[in-house]
Amino acid sequence: MAKYNYITKECLFCDGTNATDHPLLYKKNFKDEDLNAEVFSARRTTEHFHYDMLKCRNTGLIFSRHILDDNTLNELYKGSVVTFGEQTEFIKRDYWQPIKEYVKKWKKGKALDIGCSNGFFLEVLKDNGYADVYGVEPGEEPKKIARADVRDNIHTGFYGPGLYPADHFDLITCFQTLDHLSDPLGMLKNMYQNVKPGGNVYMIMHNTKALQAKLFGEKSPIIDVEHIYLFNKENLPQLCEKAGFKVVSVFDVKNGYPYSYWVRMSPLPLKKLWIGLFKALGMYSKILAINAGNMGIILEK
Ligand SMILES: [Zn+2]
Repeated sequence: MAKYNYITKECLFCDGTNATDHPLLYKKNFKDEDLNAEVFSARRTTEHFHYDMLKCRNTGLIFSRHILDDNTLNELYKGSVVTFGEQTEFIKRDYWQPIKEYVKKWKKGKALDIGCSNGFFLEVLKDNGYADVYGVEPGEEPKKIARADVRDNIHTGFYGPGLYPADHFDLITCFQTLDHLSDPLGMLKNMYQNVKPGGNVYMIMHNTKALQAKLFGEKSPIIDVEHIYLFNKENLPQLCEKAGFKVVSVFDVKNGYPYSYWVRMSPLPLKKLWIGLFKALGMYSKILAINAGNMGIILEK
């Protein structure tokens, strides 16, 4: 029984979403009753619920066809909780690495992180010389545990037009967020407004052409009710250019986490066996850095 309202999403690149160019890739596998805020929490142990997902034959864009309306999604995200505490230090290092060299030439003035969670990247920016750091986060819980010196600049709510002035930020970052949005092009256009001429945008998200996604198919953690539009290294730059940006670089992002994390997140069968094996070998808390299927992009206005 349908408990929620659904809306229909279109291909971001084609003129109309016809069935010939956009065949069904994976069929919806949940009922409304299965959903709760926990399903919408960042980096939780994945449930593998997903909507009907189509794949564009022209661009490879994978997207959810009928999704929950914005109000319902907003409510579910508001109640989401921070579940990646133990991984924070690894994520901080992995996300800083790709722009480390670029920032030497960038002005370290005002920066904004969209979907900033507990402000972990605001800490990184501040610790690396950014003067003013701001964040936007829909969840109410993450702000409460943010570091004191970044907490006050975290706005609880959604990023959108009018929240910040035009030509305002030297850098806007956005991690694991673009593929959660029902209007990613609208968000990119808004970012284009808010960044200064000559300023930069840096984003990280899943790559549908990564080995992990190909290997696990429908069982891949990226095929998930949280993801509305999923990109690859070819169609993501196209979308950013549509919003007005110049593409500086598109690249794979390595993630270094303990073995314990990889085992928990992977769709491998016999998880207990693997955990026992890694513990016996003394590897369970050792770091393994692999390309986990994330890509990054750096843009310039
Ligand atoms: Zn299309």
